[in-house]
Amino acid sequence: MRAFTYQRAQSPAEAAAAAQRNPGARFIAGGTNLLDLMKLEIETPQHLIDVNGLALDKIEPTPGGGLRIGALVRNTDLAADQRVRRDYAVLSRALLAGASAQLRNKATTAGNLLQRTRCPYFYDTNQPCNKRQPGSGCSAIGGYSRNHAILGASESCIATHPSDMAVAMQLLDATVETVKADGVTRTIPIADFHRLPGNTPHIEHALMPGELITAVTLPKPLGGTHVYRKVRDRASYAFALVSVAAVVLPDGSGRVALGGVAHKPWRVPAADASMPQGAKAVAEQLLAGARPSAESAFKVPLIQRTLASVLADVKKG
Ligand SMILES: Cc1cc2nc3c(=O)[nH]c(=O)nc-3n(C[C@H](O)[C@H](O)[C@H](O)COP(=O)(O)OP(=O)(O)OC[C@H]3O[C@@H](n4cnc5c(N)ncnc54)[C@H](O)[C@@H]3O)c2cc1C
Ligand code: SF4
Repeated sequence: MRAFTYQRAQSPAEAAAAAQRNPGARFIAGGTNLLDLMKLEIETPQHLIDVNGLALDKIEPTPGGGLRIGALVRNTDLAADQRVRRDYAVLSRALLAGASAQLRNKATTAGNLLQRTRCPYFYDTNQPCNKRQPGSGCSAIGGYSRNHAILGASESCIATHPSDMAVAMQLLDATVETVKADGVTRTIPIADFHRLPGNTPHIEHALMPGELITAVTLPKPLGGTHVYRKVRDRASYAFALVSVAAVVLPDGSGRVALGGVAHKPWRVPAADASMPQGAKAVAEQLLAGARPSAESAFKVPLIQRTLASVLADVKKG
């Protein structure tokens, strides 16, 4: 691990000012992803700004009937919150499907959104990887690609986003609140937060350098039945091969989002609109333009079957 300096920030403004003074600094929250990346020298910040002292650990109702989740709310606390379990059950279920209890006790809302891909070549500094080292090539294309993207990928990168929570946030139309390094605040709709790889796979989200997430806001509850179904190689402590998040209303309308298939959680307006027509129609819309490799081709029927199973279970009640 490379040497770095460290400070504890006491307020979002202080964290933002520290980020402005130290270009290339990183915020550290639970540290469950960042520290691993630093040990492998994939991330080499010269300065760490510890944000755990910021009072961003509350879950509060919004005037619009939604919930404002502080950036530092731990995954365990968010999953267990009674309002989340009652009104945003898909979020609670997605969180509980992720990582392990110990990790969820440390992992934060902001850190979870910003966790980096699990592509094995990204973690292997002996291999070319455009995300880790822009311009070096993509080892997964033509290499091991079983866990990789089948939608929205590019010639530069076929990595997936590993977060379960982010899939539920996408489904719920969450909004990310931030403060920039110059102290100016802004809000970013979650649909615009994560990026597709294009020819700049190292740029993964809409944050500017030094921009701090302060909260994630959920709009008022949708009602209906909430499901998060994660399919993985072993029953726990594994990232999704694919996942399906869905909210189904009593009249059969609803929303659906996929995890494990793209560089960002995957949601398609036409798929939501075809919910009343059933799983086959929804899958057709979600998978339009899918370009799997020979190794990841199994994800197409896996999604079709998982969707069919999820929607059949909701019907059965
Ligand atoms: C073995 C293992 C298994 C896992 N399994 C799963 C799984 O199945 N599903 C899943 O979804 N996740 C899984 N995870 C990932 C885990 O959920 C993430 O590591 C965790 O959510 C990251 O949160 P953190 O607070 O620890 O982030 P950190 O590691 O502290 O930070 C991550 C990134 O976010 C940035 N950051 C943190 N807070 C802020 C902020 N407020 N504003 C701006 N930037 C910020 C940091 O600078 C860093 O770049 C697993 C992790 C491990 C180690
Ligand atoms: S898929 Fe993306 S992260 Fe993986 S090797 Fe290729 S460029 Fe790197």
